[in-house]
Amino acid sequence: MEKKQFKTEVSDLLNMIIHSLYSHKEIFLRELISNASDALDKLKYKNLTENASIPDELRIDISFTEEGDRTLTISDNGIGMSHDELMENLGTIAHSGTKKFLENMTTDQKTNSNLIGQFGVGFYSAFMVAKKVEVISRAFGENASYKWSSDGKDKYTIEEDASRTENGTTIILYLNEEGTEYANRWQIEQLIKQYSNHIAYPIYLTYKQNTYDDKYNVTGSEIKTEQINMANALWRRNKADLTEKDYNEFYKNISYDSDDPMFYIHTKAEGSLDYTTLFYIPATAPYDLYRADYKPGVKLYVKRVFITDDEKELLPSYLRFVRGIIDSEDLPLNVSREILQQNKVMANIRSSSVKKLLSEFKKISEQNPELYTKFIKQYNRPLKEGLYQDYANRDELLDLVRYKTTYSDDYTSLKSYKERMKPDQKSIYYLTGTNIQAMKSSPMLASYINKGIEVLLMDDEIDDFVISSIGKFNDLELKAINKSGTSDDFITEEEKKKLQDEGASVIEKIKKALGNKVKDVVVSDSLNDVSAVVISDSKDPTVQMQQILKAMGQTMGELSPVLEINIKDPFVKRISDSEDEDFINKASSLLLDQALIAEGVMPKEPNVFVKNLHTFLIV
Ligand code: ADP
Repeated sequence: MEKKQFKTEVSDLLNMIIHSLYSHKEIFLRELISNASDALDKLKYKNLTENASIPDELRIDISFTEEGDRTLTISDNGIGMSHDELMENLGTIAHSGTKKFLENMTTDQKTNSNLIGQFGVGFYSAFMVAKKVEVISRAFGENASYKWSSDGKDKYTIEEDASRTENGTTIILYLNEEGTEYANRWQIEQLIKQYSNHIAYPIYLTYKQNTYDDKYNVTGSEIKTEQINMANALWRRNKADLTEKDYNEFYKNISYDSDDPMFYIHTKAEGSLDYTTLFYIPATAPYDLYRADYKPGVKLYVKRVFITDDEKELLPSYLRFVRGIIDSEDLPLNVSREILQQNKVMANIRSSSVKKLLSEFKKISEQNPELYTKFIKQYNRPLKEGLYQDYANRDELLDLVRYKTTYSDDYTSLKSYKERMKPDQKSIYYLTGTNIQAMKSSPMLASYINKGIEVLLMDDEIDDFVISSIGKFNDLELKAINKSGTSDDFITEEEKKKLQDEGASVIEKIKKALGNKVKDVVVSDSLNDVSAVVISDSKDPTVQMQQILKAMGQTMGELSPVLEINIKDPFVKRISDSEDEDFINKASSLLLDQALIAEGVMPKEPNVFVKNLHTFLIV
């Protein structure tokens, strides 16, 4: 017998499960059944692709002992596990997302019970109800079977065991005190019906039943085996026959989520292509949404046979938060990944699925604003990614994304912004940044608010890229208020020329003093309370964005900002009136640095800024 230590992350996970999921300990059965169902899926797939001969009936069997040492046994005739797979899958955390998730969690988060709902707890949940678990397994095509055994503390053992003569896995739970209630026919039946009714394989329960004579005296007992679940693919059933509860329970079976979904979309397409999709939107965004190695959430079936759950191309990546099932009648059963990616049928299903999802999102935005707000809180950002990924659906996506605004505290759509626009307003105005508080106090913004013009506040890192790649909404240009050229909307060419002429001499002085620290110096037509602001050249990223790019390790040539000055401001006037070069240099440098600080950006040489400031404070 080999004795082994669990990997540390397993001990962590076990602790976490036991502490946080306790009030829902009955979910262990759903988890074990769905593992069994996956193992049956894998075997069926092997049969399809390699023509392997498999048992006539793929099934899950459950039995229990009510007396003495109470046990509960869950058994399947699926793909099974070899000696090494037992070690790898049950001694470490197999599901890589779970492992990474755990690695990234702080100790504090590990004791927070809500977080665990975000991923499947899987096999280890068995230790909530069992003091010892034995897994006897025989991998398909192998002759030996092995027994893995553990009390779920820190060690497990593995030894050869002859008790399984066919491929598959038997899991025996030696129930602990809290688990004894599950050694009961009615309890098990109820749990199967509640959680696993739509697993595609039959689940049989074996139990002992008393026999009676015609006077109802017990004469003995007999062993009965009965199928408990409906064992039909839920997504193939009619919507009318299904309740929300059916949908929600099914979701928990196919996703790594133990919360109800936010909503679901069930579609049967018939006609030139025959397929069914059942899509779920998780209540909270999957934790790995922004990781490059996210796990796709959509499973592909062909004629109800599971094909893959590891294909990222089933939906475009901006819809990677969607969970669910695509079941096609037209794809070949032995479809390989290469075929899938160039397959016309698949491409068609994919594009109709995207259209369907987007149109359902739109419907919700119109009919159920409260739900839509929840949706936007979780998924606004991936939809924005769609704006530059999915050119074909850009208009639909433009209707779906939402932005913060100076108009109210709620999110707004571009459409409603447009409806609120002043009659003579020429463009849609926005300000990008990362800190909403800093953005709200931006001096640039103040001048728009004074004019009574609404400005969208875009504080998502990707907004700057996305919006500049879009350019227009309907026929309206989207213009950043902190970029050059935007203020031209409010001023005629002549007025502009007049202003620049008025400021010509001071502009020259400041330009000379700042050199290539600024791209240009221009006179503002709208600043009131401040002496100057920085804006970016219309083709450059904003100063804030440049900072983010730098932090992300992107190297780019120095892009100097444009300095917009208020020639009525006393400080600017002092520069204008001065002939003292030293004063002009220091004052200009201060002018630029304080404008950067107002935008939340650190001046290039903070020490110089402080020195200059000091000079002016003591005169
Ligand atoms: P997950 O199901 O999230 O991958 P689990 O901890 O539930 O994680 O299971 C770990 C792994 O053990 C599974 O991915 C699977 O490879 C294997 N496994 C679990 N139960 C069975 C089973 N009944 N038959 C075959 N393999 C199984």
